[in-house]
Amino acid sequence: MPRTTSRYDVIVVGAGNAALTAALSASQAGARVLVLEKAPEAERGGNSRFSGGLFRFAYDGIEELKPFRRDLSAADWDRVEAGHYDTDRYYQDIMRVTQGQADRQLSLKLTGESYSTLAWMTGLGVDWDWTSLWSVDSGELLRFNPGAVLEARNKGVGLMESLYRAVGLASIDVVYGAKMTAFLQDGDGGVTGVRIRTPDGTEDAPAGAVVLASGGFEANAEMRARYLGPGWDQVKVRGTKFNTGETLRMALELGAKPVGHWQGCHATPVDGDSAPVGDLRLTDRTNRLSYPYSIMVNVLGRRFIDEGEDTGGYTYAKTGRAVLAQPGAMAYQIFDAKTVHLLEERYSTGAPVVSETIEGLAGGLSIPADALAQTVAEYNAAVLPGRFDPAVKDGKGTAGLEPPKSNWALLLDTPPYTAYSVACGITFTYGGIQIDTQARVIDTEDNPVPGLYATGEITGGFFFHNYPGGTGLMRGAVFGRIAGANAAAEGAGK
Ligand SMILES: Cc1cc2nc3c(=O)[nH]c(=O)nc-3n(C[C@H](O)[C@H](O)[C@H](O)COP(=O)(O)OP(=O)(O)OC[C@H]3O[C@@H](n4cnc5c(N)ncnc54)[C@H](O)[C@@H]3O)c2cc1C
Repeated sequence: MPRTTSRYDVIVVGAGNAALTAALSASQAGARVLVLEKAPEAERGGNSRFSGGLFRFAYDGIEELKPFRRDLSAADWDRVEAGHYDTDRYYQDIMRVTQGQADRQLSLKLTGESYSTLAWMTGLGVDWDWTSLWSVDSGELLRFNPGAVLEARNKGVGLMESLYRAVGLASIDVVYGAKMTAFLQDGDGGVTGVRIRTPDGTEDAPAGAVVLASGGFEANAEMRARYLGPGWDQVKVRGTKFNTGETLRMALELGAKPVGHWQGCHATPVDGDSAPVGDLRLTDRTNRLSYPYSIMVNVLGRRFIDEGEDTGGYTYAKTGRAVLAQPGAMAYQIFDAKTVHLLEERYSTGAPVVSETIEGLAGGLSIPADALAQTVAEYNAAVLPGRFDPAVKDGKGTAGLEPPKSNWALLLDTPPYTAYSVACGITFTYGGIQIDTQARVIDTEDNPVPGLYATGEITGGFFFHNYPGGTGLMRGAVFGRIAGANAAAEGAGK
């Protein structure tokens, strides 16, 4: 590691989306910036690199989308249906899925600055593509679930390549294999830098201000068990192994206020055979999110959630927890010939069990055939008539079934039947440290900690119980941009 002989204005801890947006913002504000990445260079980029790259942001109709896809022709735009998604709707979505518990001021800031932040990132060199998540391309029309429209080109990998390119162009120093192990503080409790451990030894790096962007504790089994509760120590980790929560702990010891849903996390159904931690060759491709078109059963052959409660973007983040609660922490998503063509491309990484009969399927899955046959019969008897439309909540549900299936309830009657096994995969944790709308870290007495800012997964108060898809990256970038600018202003003045 280069000896940090001269003092940096701003040190950013972490090197994912939240960190690099903070570093770039601080650099644009004229600060001399150092980025610390615990991972070696080959594994840099945190969960952001594993991500699908989806950014949920507010826009006022299709005209506001056009600056992000200048590569498209008028004919391309003619077939796009993306509706309106204003800041109020984004805010209401956050409040609805978090049961009204999300921090109001932070949510207003997040939603209100989502569009301008996306535009800013575009200026930094991030390219965008349509997302295939919760959208349906019929050839004639490309229909999006409003709010979930754009993802970074080449997903999280492309996002991080673009941001690292921008960091290089801005001549920001990045040190890999550099773990923050302690804060440096002055006599008044203000943060004056960090202690860093690298393979070459330990060093104190003074700075005018520090931005924490080092992720949550989802890759730490002990902390998962301690905060999230029984069973969580054994779940699969969808992303990076480096988010182990030590900086979160250090921040709490420093006096930062713990806020948010400490027993809550984002967790999705993932391939039952996937590795215990994220694999950079697969990134987010172990996700199994086409369950709204399935029935999902446990190892006893019984359904356990309303698979069609809402569009997947509003249910997937809580569905991993529902799978974990099942016997053996396993479940199966069952499709028939009418729905199997709707599966996301990501299912191609899995090995389904396929059978011409429900009994044969049960045999292949080693679940009781009579129970599965009964579940399917009861479900089919409860399916109401109506028009199936995979692109919107079609209201085609069930009657008298518990749990119900509220949308996309097609008869499961057309062989072959196809089943994918799923387990619970944790994405990131919801509990974290308090920041204000200026991304300043707030202490337990509700005062800002001098010299300390935070953004991304390490912050709490944004998400409770559930989460609207695409908000994690947006949150990190909105507050990364704010944290960087404010840290630069404070750091350069010291
Ligand atoms: C498979 C997957 C798919 C996802 N898809 C999406 C999506 O499409 N859209 C969306 O909005 N969200 C998505 N998410 C969630 C999203 O990735 C996160 O919310 C977001 O990336 C968090 O960004 P971050 O910068 O806070 O953390 P990270 O990107 O995880 O970065 C944390 C960084 O801190 C470093 N670090 C940790 N400890 C230390 C230390 N002590 N010292 C120095 N460095 C340290 C880590 O190495 C890492 O570089 C997905 C997550 C996963 C795992």
